[in-house]
Amino acid sequence: MRSLRKRNDISGLKPSRSQGGRERVGTRTTYYEKMKSAARTVRQEHGLTSPKVTLTDMRRIYRHYQIKVDYWKGRLKTVRGQYTDGPDGPVVMVSHSLPTEQRIFTLAHELKHHLFDRTGNPREVDDQCSEIGAEVFAVELIFPDADYREHMAKLGIELGGCSAEGIVRLKRTSVTTLSYTSLAKRATFLEYAPEGSLDGVKWKLLEESMYGEPVYKRIQRYRKARFGSS
Ligand SMILES: [Zn+2]
Repeated sequence: MRSLRKRNDISGLKPSRSQGGRERVGTRTTYYEKMKSAARTVRQEHGLTSPKVTLTDMRRIYRHYQIKVDYWKGRLKTVRGQYTDGPDGPVVMVSHSLPTEQRIFTLAHELKHHLFDRTGNPREVDDQCSEIGAEVFAVELIFPDADYREHMAKLGIELGGCSAEGIVRLKRTSVTTLSYTSLAKRATFLEYAPEGSLDGVKWKLLEESMYGEPVYKRIQRYRKARFGSS
């Protein structure tokens, strides 16, 4: 009988438990590269060809792996998602209150736990490394490194030369569903932007100042003025 393994994301990591020290623990970098490679394989197998990965794409992938998705209706302040590999099969719970992009990201993150951290899978790394691995996997699943660099090159953005406006242009032209926060983090990590230069940016406001008010907002404003509701 399979035992129940739960992963509560964000809500605290359990201390690592060694399995007799028999498993060879590779370097973290090797592990993260392995996660990225796995994410690219999932993209290939499921026909994801752009950095615009939708909820429909994620649902299709989940159906393939027979993972149930359960939306939490309650208020969850600290938990984004949870992976459970129980006797009734794998279930991912996602907070209902998450905006779409974060939901997509959370489903991508939890998919990594399904692929690598199920009960009985050999334990390769400690919990903290496993969590970072899930983040790395999710980012690569939505917007692979190589594609990211390609989009930057197309925009004429070179290493060290990315401003906050550059990130907004990247988001707009690539139509990616990866969040501004993730796009900015990666720009710093890949050294497109100097450390700290993209911290604290109000992305939506900056986007509006560059491209004007989004259509949906204009419609909301129009409805409110005309019908007195939004
Ligand atoms: Zn996790």
